[in-house]
Amino acid sequence: MAKNYYEILGVSKTASQDEIKSAYRKLVKQYHPDLHPDDPSCADKFKEINEANEVLSDEKKRKQYDFELEHPNMGGFGGGFSQGGAGGFSGFGGFEDIFGDIFGGFGGGRTRTQTKSQGEDITVEVSLSFLDAAKGCHKEIAYTRNEPCAACKGTGAKNGAAYKTCEKCGGTGQVQYVNNSGFFRSVSVRACDECHGTGKKILETCPDCKGKGYVRANTRVSLDIPAGADTGSYIRKRGFGEASRNGGAAGDLIVLFRVEPSKIFTRKNFDLYVEVPVSFRTAALGGKVEVPTIDDTVSYPVPEGTQSGKVFCIRGKGIKSARKTGDLYVTVSVEVPQKLTREQKRRIEELDESTDVKQCEKMKRYKDNIQAMYGKDPYRS
Ligand SMILES: [Zn+2]
Ligand SMILES: [Zn+2]
Repeated sequence: MAKNYYEILGVSKTASQDEIKSAYRKLVKQYHPDLHPDDPSCADKFKEINEANEVLSDEKKRKQYDFELEHPNMGGFGGGFSQGGAGGFSGFGGFEDIFGDIFGGFGGGRTRTQTKSQGEDITVEVSLSFLDAAKGCHKEIAYTRNEPCAACKGTGAKNGAAYKTCEKCGGTGQVQYVNNSGFFRSVSVRACDECHGTGKKILETCPDCKGKGYVRANTRVSLDIPAGADTGSYIRKRGFGEASRNGGAAGDLIVLFRVEPSKIFTRKNFDLYVEVPVSFRTAALGGKVEVPTIDDTVSYPVPEGTQSGKVFCIRGKGIKSARKTGDLYVTVSVEVPQKLTREQKRRIEELDESTDVKQCEKMKRYKDNIQAMYGKDPYRS
């Protein structure tokens, strides 16, 4: 399970950025390894505090982290927070990423340059029918995103040429900042605020994109969704998100699935559950019933003397993913007929008189218990 960064910093889930900052500062002073050279546990704690701060102090990362906290079962697909973006499971093939890799941006995923910011991620929610999700399917997804402007090649300058080198950063797009704060003197390289990290100053803006360097565009992406997608699981397509505003990498497209419920199946990970009503006759004498699977129905022999509520497991008839094949659990439900005719009622009476409590295991046990406790036969009134 993911570490709880809120607990690590000792703040509430609704803490403001100021509260997070002050909690972080307090803890850093308390646990800084330089202050506790003899206590190695402080170094771990210090690392943890920094990790928590790195996520919670960044609203974008925090939002993703909150999402993960609220959807802990997403890790079921072999990803989730604890694995970070380190790749994880690669059994599906054809994907840039596998379900669950929501934290690709940190914890070992890609490295981002400090000056060229990556484009925003786009989340698109896609509805899947129960069977499409269970069997796997192919989907075309249409969405709108910022794409680099073709007229100015993403520069924002007319014809892609009407710009000059930025004087403040000398065209590098980077400026060094020295930061003295309490314990640390840190030098950081950041995007030049004069040219926003592009290294260029626009002399005449591109009329197509009004100098932004990108335009809104309708686009589509084709996805092969493997068997086993569940509500809350998703596929991340690297580089299919918004264009960067200053020449960095594009963001990602996150296709988030919502699986519609089925009228007959329920699902738990890769296993499927189905309830099959059978007649008293089939339950008593045995007989074949058609049991649904995700492909078709299969004929299943219900044995003689099957009780209502009995569960049969049909191996390998659940969801088949590249990783795992689930089973199908069939619950037999014996249905008592209603609106009987007088003749039917008479024949049931006849049948009941001819059967004995000894033939019914549960009734026999019940009768014995009641008789032992109260000295009465519960079936004779
Ligand atoms: Zn500059
Ligand atoms: Zn343009």
